[in-house]
Amino acid sequence: MLTKPSCAVITLEEHYWDEELAAHFAGLDAGAPPELRKRLLDLGELRLKEMDEAGIDIQVISHAAPSLQKLAADVAVPLGRRVNNRLAAAIRRHPTRFAAFATLPTADPAAAADELARTVNELGFKGGMIHGLANGQFVDDQRFRPIFARAEALDVPIYLHPAIPHPAVIEAYYKEYAKDFPMLLRAAWGYTLETATQAVRMVLSGVFEAHPRLKLVLGHLGEGLPFLLWRIDHALARPGQKPVHFRDTFRSHFHVTTSGFFSDSALLCTVMEMGVERILFSVDYPFEANPPGPRWLESVPLCDDDKVKIASGNAQRLLRL
Ligand code: ZN
Repeated sequence: MLTKPSCAVITLEEHYWDEELAAHFAGLDAGAPPELRKRLLDLGELRLKEMDEAGIDIQVISHAAPSLQKLAADVAVPLGRRVNNRLAAAIRRHPTRFAAFATLPTADPAAAADELARTVNELGFKGGMIHGLANGQFVDDQRFRPIFARAEALDVPIYLHPAIPHPAVIEAYYKEYAKDFPMLLRAAWGYTLETATQAVRMVLSGVFEAHPRLKLVLGHLGEGLPFLLWRIDHALARPGQKPVHFRDTFRSHFHVTTSGFFSDSALLCTVMEMGVERILFSVDYPFEANPPGPRWLESVPLCDDDKVKIASGNAQRLLRL
């Protein structure tokens, strides 16, 4: 299976840096090693070479965290247009290899909704990505509803991606270990906890009752939620609470990707909870190298039909690629 060219391989949590946007986070990326920097800034030959070496046909490209989510509206709205236009130009140079998720100026939700529509309708983007909290707020807040209403109307997904946790959370939960284990508040744990909380809150907020065709995507095999679905559902069904069908709602509105999480046991749990149609292959390039991802997918204990769905079939359907 997956021996070229029998099955296309699409990845959709693959990042880059726009120089103008990344300059706003100079303090945050001060520690980015030069090799990572070089890859984040490349939307051309190096990226394509490393896709070819790993047998990846298409990357759906998005900005890296924290993108526009930590910027004020007066800066974020015009900057977002420039960033998305530059990404669109890079995709036009390699239209069979690259696609894109829009970066959205969430500080002005109406403008973010308009930018999502502009990038989808005029630039051919496949959806939008939101990185962590929007200036400290979870995006289930009513003020962000215009973004989700527009995503539903356009029939494109919004990808909820992690970012550095809220400063108060870092202070309360992680600070004693942050120096020796900088990844603790990032990919090792902090990203997971905050992004899973964002997703749980979305289900409880009623956004899916208001927008029954809304589709969201989580990376990292659903940020732990597939493993926990039964328990969350069970606990929320205890007496004295507002009725919510957590597990059903989660499974019918979320897709999850394998970004940065190449574990057989975690994947099998996710298949059992979500169904194979809801799982999309991704790498999380360049924070993860490309080659281990497809190699792992080839080896997972699933039938070839299911591997093909995960490798590209589900993404083709969700993103109309
Ligand atoms: Zn990522």
